[in-house]
Amino acid sequence: MDVSLDQALAAALAGDGAFVVVTGAGVSAESGIPTFRGQDGYWTVGSRVYHPQELATHAAFRRMPEEVWRWYLYRLGVCRAAEPNPAHVALVELERALADRFLLVTQNVDGLHMRAGSSRARTYQIHGNIHFMRCAGAHGDEIMEIPAGVSGLGPEDPLPDQLRGLLRCARCEGWARPHVLWFDEYYDEELYRFESSLAAAASASVLVTAGTSGNTNLPNQMVALARRSGALLIDINPEDNPFGRAARAADGIFLRGSASQELPRVLAAVTSALRAEAG
Ligand code: NAD
Repeated sequence: MDVSLDQALAAALAGDGAFVVVTGAGVSAESGIPTFRGQDGYWTVGSRVYHPQELATHAAFRRMPEEVWRWYLYRLGVCRAAEPNPAHVALVELERALADRFLLVTQNVDGLHMRAGSSRARTYQIHGNIHFMRCAGAHGDEIMEIPAGVSGLGPEDPLPDQLRGLLRCARCEGWARPHVLWFDEYYDEELYRFESSLAAAASASVLVTAGTSGNTNLPNQMVALARRSGALLIDINPEDNPFGRAARAADGIFLRGSASQELPRVLAAVTSALRAEAG
């Protein structure tokens, strides 16, 4: 398996296209942040249990902004307490090795790639970042860091009164909302780098998917575009999934395992291919 990974990467890197990595919740699972598919993703409001796909919506926010904020502030606390793992670190090293050929496209909103040291310029956070908020009304172009005074909540905590005043737009004083893409919203370029992500995939020599179940739209389009243009597809996941199947079907590689084990292997193979190329 290592030999074919080394050989496939050496051949693909001889082209001059981009090296694009798409990450999903599985990459942060080993930092202790639950994926949406686990039981920990669910949230109780009164006597009703909500699935993330119901709660992470503009419709839910319109109906019950305080409950949606409670869920996000609970998740914010989990993200603030988490540390990057070897998968995040390997991606920082890959960016260092590949420089402007490298692009990281992450669905994760936890901010761990940035904390590990991935650069803002070469990281597209296509679903936003839970550490930030923006006006829920007319001033949504201004993205503000959630004030340090806003602490993470426990799962049973009510929304404290003073937070109602802090989770506000500075211009109109209406509700601010989490700076994340909700399930009933569309990608765009300005906030979420939609077109730039597609363009990168279309010009990629290598597209790596890691820790994602293949249920979201933009990563699916990216894999389809990269496949059509003949890029090497590599998928990393402990479970069989659509991207692993797409990689195998396109003579790519499915690395069945955890991101923290397999991304450092990809890094080692890239480093040795670049060394061999440099002579
Ligand atoms: P998902 O929850 O649908 O799927 C997670 C995938 O990761 C699964 O295929 C699973 O098999 C795999 N996985 C689990 N442990 C892994 C490991 N150690 N190494 C590698 N893979 C592992 O997640 P998704 O595909 O990212 O899409 C769900 C949506 O949820 C996205 O919109 C994302 O923004 C959001 N989300 C983000 C976070 C976060 O920021 N950390 C957490 C939960 C959900």
